Amino acid sequence: MNFEEIDKEYVLQTYARNYVNFKQGKNATLVDDKGRDYIDFTSGIGVVSVGHGNTRVAKAICEQANDLIHLSNLYLIEPQAKLAKKISELYGRPVGTFFANSGAEANEGAIKLARKYGLKKFENKRYKIITLEHSFHGRTITTVKATGQDSFHKEDFSPYPTGFLYVKNLNEVYKNIDDETVAVMIELVQGEGGVEPFDKSEIQKLEKFLKSKEVLLIVDEVQTGVYRSGEFLATNLYEIDPDILTLAKGLGGGVPIGAVVTKHKELFEVGDHGSTFGGNFLVTRASLEVLDILENYKDSGVLDEHFIYFESKLKEFKDRFENLFLSVVGLGLMRGLRCKEHVDLSKLIQSAFNEGVLVLKAGRNTLRFLPPLTISKEEIDNGFKRLENAFKNIG
Ligand SMILES: *Cc1c(COP(=O)(O)O)cnc(C)c1O
Repeated sequence: MNFEEIDKEYVLQTYARNYVNFKQGKNATLVDDKGRDYIDFTSGIGVVSVGHGNTRVAKAICEQANDLIHLSNLYLIEPQAKLAKKISELYGRPVGTFFANSGAEANEGAIKLARKYGLKKFENKRYKIITLEHSFHGRTITTVKATGQDSFHKEDFSPYPTGFLYVKNLNEVYKNIDDETVAVMIELVQGEGGVEPFDKSEIQKLEKFLKSKEVLLIVDEVQTGVYRSGEFLATNLYEIDPDILTLAKGLGGGVPIGAVVTKHKELFEVGDHGSTFGGNFLVTRASLEVLDILENYKDSGVLDEHFIYFESKLKEFKDRFENLFLSVVGLGLMRGLRCKEHVDLSKLIQSAFNEGVLVLKAGRNTLRFLPPLTISKEEIDNGFKRLENAFKNIG
């Protein structure tokens, strides 16, 4: 059996996989088992924030693995304590962090925290959580219910937890808040939903309203967080002060880590929440290295330079292919090209792959770009040149 056959026989088939066999990577460049190279505009869906084969992260992981990988949360975990402090410093607010292993798990933690707030703070327990259409919050039974897309709420997996309601847009949030609403959970830029940033003033207006009603604001920064937006958090960019925010994807540069970050530090008490693996030595040490790399990258001005360069190339590209694309969307290095109605996205992605570029789909009609934040100008140039070759024969 070849590896494709082994995969199909022994791995549960929940993904529509492409059976290319990647062996190695360096920054935004990947090499497969036949020695072919690819430009990676996906970074493992926004995860490999500091690029593939990052020697500093690899070294930190090796050193840590030789000392201690894991001990459980029953003992002090020095890199975990340092990482929580670092997150608070980079964010610029006095927050506390709980460490989980993924985005969905971080969102579960945020929901638990909100529900506890709803019990402690009010006479009648507040428990309802409002989310938005086209949102994405995860694949566990609760976070899938929080996800505002009907296609995710298949009868196959019912019944789902109650207390979740999703509404069409930000305006609809106001009308749907009642005396049982404990929180509103949003992404500032909807990632899976189509790379759709919300208007800053609209978000600030919502924040003010929620504060006045004592309804919590939860910001899902699983995709937007850790410099993807250009700031450490998109929350910094939007200049808001949410009650709870969640991180995952880019935080560990590839190791599985999630985080619930909150200013309500006293709410969770001993025994309220936990995780066997969450925030262990290995992942928090790796994450500290990632944050150090990205902080320097931002402070030196290189990050912003590359953001501007990527945006200019994307705009140029859109103008060159007006037959295919309507507009450039997104911000930072969370970008998309909105496709015209007739465009077959799967075909675009396949043609790009054939020319040696990895790109993603978002929502119904958006070609999505989530390159490593450290992508070089040469890799950007190379990637767009290949995309041009891929698309020039598509009408
Ligand atoms: C990817 C994503 C999640 C889910 O993260 P997992 O690590 O796959 O559980 C949740 N929210 C947002 C906004 C995401 O982009």
